[in-house]
Amino acid sequence: MKLTRAREVATVTAPASYFTGTVYQVPIVTAPDPARVNAASVTFTPGARTNWHTHPLGQTLHVVSGTGWFQTEGEARIEIHAGDTIFIPPGERHWHGATATQMMTHIAIHERDPAAGHITWQEPVSEKDYLGEG
Ligand code: MN
Repeated sequence: MKLTRAREVATVTAPASYFTGTVYQVPIVTAPDPARVNAASVTFTPGARTNWHTHPLGQTLHVVSGTGWFQTEGEARIEIHAGDTIFIPPGERHWHGATATQMMTHIAIHERDPAAGHITWQEPVSEKDYLGEG
């Protein structure tokens, strides 16, 4: 077994190339081969969100605190709360983040595809789409 103490894990700021606003990430696991699971705790400050993206093998999001927004392309944006869990199927284009006025932290769990990785990044979410006015 491998124990990782909290004190060994640095919080990193998510890159502006893939996120809008201030987002903090704390890695939980990147399992060694042959396992493929990755997990991280991700905290979005108000107004912050991912770019549009897809996951080659899908993703599970479990909200641990705060209030956020989630949208799959072509569907209405939804509000998500602590305790909610979303599974995003492989290839489904979506974004997730905080609301405009509240923080949101979720655990993101996704498996790596040997060729395609665990995420395919696309363009930023427009203010109109973010606010649900698209
Ligand atoms: Mn996602």
